[in-house]
Amino acid sequence: MVEKYKNYINGEWIADGSLGTFKNINPANTDDIVGEFPSSGKEEVDAAVAAAKEAFKSWRLVPAPKRADIIKRAGDILVERKEELARLMTREMGKILIETRGDVQEGIDTAYYAAGEGRRMFGDTVPCELPNKFGMSVRMPIGVCGMITPWNFPIAIPTWKIFPALVCGNTVVFKPASDTPASAVKLVEILEEAGIPKGVVNLVNGTGKNVGEAILHHPDVALVAFTGSSEIGRHIAEVCGKHLKRVSLELGGKNGQIVMDDANLELALEGALWGAFGTTGQRCTATSRIILHRKIADEFIERFVQLAQNLKIGNGLDESVQMGPLINQRQREIVHNYVEIGKNEDKAKLLIGGEYLTGGEYDKGFFYKPTVFVDVKPDMRIAKEEIFGPVVAVFTVDSFDEAIDVINSTSYGLSSSIYTQDVNQAFRALRDIETGITYVNGPTIGAEIQLPFGGVKDTGNGHRESSHTVLDIFTEWKSIYVDYSGKLQRAQIDTYEE
Ligand code: NAD
Ligand code: MN
Repeated sequence: MVEKYKNYINGEWIADGSLGTFKNINPANTDDIVGEFPSSGKEEVDAAVAAAKEAFKSWRLVPAPKRADIIKRAGDILVERKEELARLMTREMGKILIETRGDVQEGIDTAYYAAGEGRRMFGDTVPCELPNKFGMSVRMPIGVCGMITPWNFPIAIPTWKIFPALVCGNTVVFKPASDTPASAVKLVEILEEAGIPKGVVNLVNGTGKNVGEAILHHPDVALVAFTGSSEIGRHIAEVCGKHLKRVSLELGGKNGQIVMDDANLELALEGALWGAFGTTGQRCTATSRIILHRKIADEFIERFVQLAQNLKIGNGLDESVQMGPLINQRQREIVHNYVEIGKNEDKAKLLIGGEYLTGGEYDKGFFYKPTVFVDVKPDMRIAKEEIFGPVVAVFTVDSFDEAIDVINSTSYGLSSSIYTQDVNQAFRALRDIETGITYVNGPTIGAEIQLPFGGVKDTGNGHRESSHTVLDIFTEWKSIYVDYSGKLQRAQIDTYEE
């Protein structure tokens, strides 16, 4: 018996989808069907948006600390159910248990952080130019927010959007990735259990074409918050631009790690291994480029390749496994296609991997061998384009300046890292690398909730999730003037005396 999951619209769990059903499979074992989900479209989106619009009328009036109490409770429930959620997530998307526990933990941290904002959400109070007049700015909720999320962080990314949006007083229509709908259902169940009133959060399962598009085009959706590929992000920005909707975009990456000749090599190797092959390379912040100073390049490459070949690959539910499968067969084809492109590109050399991992249990999943190209040049496609798999492009450079040029030579700008013991070099890198996040002596992954998350260039449109900066996505400023003089006071610009 395959478990049946539902949509959640206006406080009701609804089994039927207007477009039938779809199955969610385990990418480590395609015999394992995680569940069956309602395949939805415009009909469900219309109902969800109507519910969210109605609920906004009262939710925006609930005091923010009270709204925050519900998010705090959701965090508490996530704590209780962490292990169960992590296991389900590993089953539905393949990353190893350490990482799915981390994904749930990120949701917990986000809940507590967002709940704290319910008692802050600072605005300004400022002196006024005229006597007996008071000036301040406050944050106002925006309305119905469409949340469209990817499959690689099935709990963390939705919580980054939904929790702060709710604390700010918005209502939500949530469309999760169709590869990870079970984690999304669990998250919404938890919000319901925590006490979210009906209509405030609505969940609609289905494809980007059927559900996503209906959200983008709905006139009552005031804001779209999207995490996913730059290709879809560009399309979303176009549609939202036409309708003058607010839109925040967290998009792709092609993150680089620089290793200088004075680096602690042990540390740099460990960081590169975790950064490149964690989540099978399917993190927006994954290390897909390693930029080595020529003096340490040979030694680094030799040891890195050894470590990569020794990774234990398999079903992430096995605690000893270090790397799981890719998310689906299509993604495996995309990755393999890039490997073929890389092999045909002038002078790049494939050192290890470049093949499906097959035989025995592997034949039931979408496994791929850790893959390393060396002698990569910045103008090659494998150097510039996001692959989203366990494929690393290694560059060798002769100087710090050349390393900076190489790391900046993509259109993406999410994360970066430099390993060096030289404080001057470290600070120059922090100034000159064009990314939203830079690590010194740490890998390109490992963001914390109390700092802004997002990137420059094609990685986004200038917004930052996480931290208090997320409030700028989910609120509008209102400036307030109170004149208690009892007479008409004209503004300074009309009355200024030299
Ligand atoms: P994707 O762009 O294919 O899909 C993301 C979401 O958009 C899914 O829910 C999908 O159903 C939906 N969608 C697809 N077409 C749509 C349309 N026409 N209208 C509306 N919605 C539509 O991305 P993915 O494969 O799920 O995730 C991988 C990508 O996400 C990578 O590029 C990765 O770098 C990026 N990512 C970025 C961050 C970040 O914070 N910067 C984090 C994680 C992942
Ligand atoms: Mn799945």
